[in-house]
Amino acid sequence: MPLEEYVSKRRFADTPEPAPAAGKRGKFPPNYFCVQRHDATRLHYDFRLEIGGVLKSWAVPKGPSLDPQVKRLAVHVEDHPLDYAGFEGVIPEGQYGGGTVLVWDTGTWRPLDGDPAEAYRRGSLKFELSGKKLDGAWALVRMKKGDGKNWLLVKERDAAARPGSDGAITVERPKSALSGRDHAAVAKARD
Ligand code: MN
Repeated sequence: MPLEEYVSKRRFADTPEPAPAAGKRGKFPPNYFCVQRHDATRLHYDFRLEIGGVLKSWAVPKGPSLDPQVKRLAVHVEDHPLDYAGFEGVIPEGQYGGGTVLVWDTGTWRPLDGDPAEAYRRGSLKFELSGKKLDGAWALVRMKKGDGKNWLLVKERDAAARPGSDGAITVERPKSALSGRDHAAVAKARD
């Protein structure tokens, strides 16, 4: 079962995150991607691409950069169910990933380098994003050193790139692409 690790880390009686439901993909179009801004123990961005019926997922501590010279560490984490892409809310303290989550970007993606499942296994994904904040060509490449969990997320050079911008996109546009909310508003909605 591909979502075993996702299930084993969570208690669905105690977290509002979606439990995997067979065949459920929510309202999402094919080849969906999302980036969730997760204000947990440490703020990070969870980058998720639909591949093979699940959301393949990477935690990006510094968030995406539109600067092609910047390589962002992207730590591979457990697969998430497709309808996780719509999740905004509060994961209670003491639960796995406790903190607030907002959907920082949403949209579709398209492989630029053959079969995506094969490219994923190979550790070299080249793809195009059509999101609300992220566009154009990107690459996710697994690093050879270490335990195989460390990948790099890099913007390729094209019209959507912003050379020299470093982390500007995350500073300039921190709010939810779905609801326009910031983390404080997401946290408050629960009270
Ligand atoms: Mn996370």
